[in-house]
Amino acid sequence: MAQTSLALAVTLAGSSPLTGKKVLFVWGGWMGHEPDKCRDIFVPWLRSEGAVVTVSDTLESYVKLDQKNEVDLIIQAWTMGQIEGEQEKALLEAVSSGTGIAGWHGGLCDSFRNNTEYQFMTGGQWVAHPGGVIDYRVNITDHDDPVTKGLADFDMHSEQYYMHVDPNVKVLATTTFSDKYAGWIGGSVVPVAWKKYYGRGRVFYSSLGHVASDFSVPQALEIMKRGIRWACMSRYEPVEQWQKPVYGRLR
Ligand SMILES: [Zn+2]
Repeated sequence: MAQTSLALAVTLAGSSPLTGKKVLFVWGGWMGHEPDKCRDIFVPWLRSEGAVVTVSDTLESYVKLDQKNEVDLIIQAWTMGQIEGEQEKALLEAVSSGTGIAGWHGGLCDSFRNNTEYQFMTGGQWVAHPGGVIDYRVNITDHDDPVTKGLADFDMHSEQYYMHVDPNVKVLATTTFSDKYAGWIGGSVVPVAWKKYYGRGRVFYSSLGHVASDFSVPQALEIMKRGIRWACMSRYEPVEQWQKPVYGRLR
């Protein structure tokens, strides 16, 4: 049911925002997160949407992003690496000047543990996944945002990411932790997917995607695709005037 209605929604929306957009897909880091297999899911899809995609397996690609860069969107799948000073500086300048960035799981929010300005940009850092690969539920908390509109709560069998999250993000989905593996966190609600800005650049993150097969869950894949479509539009749409921080009043 979900896949049929999602496909219909995409058809009704007309051509993809990704059509003609220049996308830099950077993959690498810890291979346990299968960045290569994830690349092979998302790059063909990006091209099917009409994006002009450059695939790179080096962070040196960021150094080429100077202020004249025309890259609309960076997608990064790079867990537990080290980014050099010039690379980080170039990446952050690109995003702050309007290049969007999107990613999932450890590939965006457990990438460069020493780099706090990078984490200031992404809006979160993974710190634990109690119990390892477990069954858990994802709750859609924003039913109006285009990224999660029309989606119902769903189940995952994967790592449940416990994250330190920037309060200044727009949370779209959350998950609630049990006390089974870490007694003191029972009942804790942690964001799963969010939007934010870093300067003019749109940042989209979903914690779903420990391994490539996680994207066989239709909602996990759809959230990522929609987030990518949103993030590629930084240069073409005004800054969205929302404020829905983690600690804000819940509806
Ligand atoms: Zn993982």
